[in-house]
Amino acid sequence: MRVGVVGGGAVGVTAARDLAVRGADVTLLEKGDIGSGSTGRASGLLYDAFAAPEDARVGDRAIERFRDFSGTGDFEFVETPYVWFAREGDERRATAIREQVPRMQAAGRDVEFADAADLAERYPALDVDDVVVAAVARNAGRTDPATYATAMADAAEEADAEIRTDAPAAVRTDPLRVVTADGETRFDAVVVAAGAHTKRVLADAGIAVPLKPYRVQALTVDVDADVPMLYDATEGYYLRTHPTGVLGGDGTEYVESDPDDWKRAGDDDFRETMVERLDRRLAEDAVAESDVERTWAGLCTATPDRDPLLGELRDGLYVAAGWQGHGFMRTPALGEAVALDVLGEGGIPEFDPTRFDGDEEFDVVEGMTVE
Ligand SMILES: Cc1cc2nc3c(=O)[nH]c(=O)nc-3n(C[C@H](O)[C@H](O)[C@H](O)COP(=O)(O)OP(=O)(O)OC[C@H]3O[C@@H](n4cnc5c(N)ncnc54)[C@H](O)[C@@H]3O)c2cc1C
Repeated sequence: MRVGVVGGGAVGVTAARDLAVRGADVTLLEKGDIGSGSTGRASGLLYDAFAAPEDARVGDRAIERFRDFSGTGDFEFVETPYVWFAREGDERRATAIREQVPRMQAAGRDVEFADAADLAERYPALDVDDVVVAAVARNAGRTDPATYATAMADAAEEADAEIRTDAPAAVRTDPLRVVTADGETRFDAVVVAAGAHTKRVLADAGIAVPLKPYRVQALTVDVDADVPMLYDATEGYYLRTHPTGVLGGDGTEYVESDPDDWKRAGDDDFRETMVERLDRRLAEDAVAESDVERTWAGLCTATPDRDPLLGELRDGLYVAAGWQGHGFMRTPALGEAVALDVLGEGGIPEFDPTRFDGDEEFDVVEGMTVE
């Protein structure tokens, strides 16, 4: 079976690797370098703390595979608990966390409530005085996402997939083919895993999908603090330990971005706000703007129901996009699922992209939001 994969982000390279390992004749086309899209800008928080059964299954499989792949090339999965909490005065999110944890446990996740005093003892670098409800997920870790993409692309090549970089591709149907500067190639199946460009690539082939790219931001700060992966649900930001000190993220823009025209650098107000948050959250270190090492932005993709579009859209044409900010952590399972779908061996019915017409109106919502 000849399969074309459009997009060499984490999802595309995983799908290419899994297809090639199972004997498919795979060509992956990436318009830039491997991992040069959202994957190379991601923060690398990995966890399976999801309550819906299909999300819990996907999260569990993804973490299992991250552990299996750890040590492949430069990719390393670093075991790190994920802690999230609501603060005093935020009854809405406190109630949401109280309701969410038993549902995650019912879905088989290794998640439990955490006591603020225990957190303070385990992580003396954190100030958690204002925390009223907290939970911890143990099936979790962190990594450098670019190393995963490179490792999977190498593994795909080892399994005889052809990886072509600097190869922007267009998709055409009837018959199904991919067009690049080198000409047209017919495929039995094509997977469009073009991240923020997915809507545009498919629109160019005459197919509408309800996907909106939106901008998010992150920064790294040169402070010495041992923190878990942390999500402050009240303010909507996250932190994790990073080789330079601490990485923090938020800065969501609740509007659709143009995937070819968006600001790559982080905003000044994002940097200022994150420095204030870090200064408040870290117990001892005073954090100042001069500690900021790097600030950047990237694109995520939203769907009307916050679930991905993963599966067959037209005969032989598959889509894999719309991760609502949780794409990288689910990649090993999502790439595998679309590969199995192409081979007629699986898929994820709940994420079937044909559940939408393509012209749905919807607002951008940040995926980590606890409601
Ligand atoms: C700042 C930031 C922090 C994030 N943190 C996390 C996190 O901690 N955990 C998490 O789970 N997720 C995180 N995400 C989200 C995560 O980055 C994405 O969900 C994930 O990387 C998506 O992978 P992908 O392969 O679908 O897309 P991408 O990595 O964007 O890959 C798509 C690829 O397609 C290529 N392409 C586009 N058009 C074409 C074309 N016409 N022809 C050929 N190639 C094409 C692009 O160049 C790109 O390389 C974060 C995102 C950002 C921006």
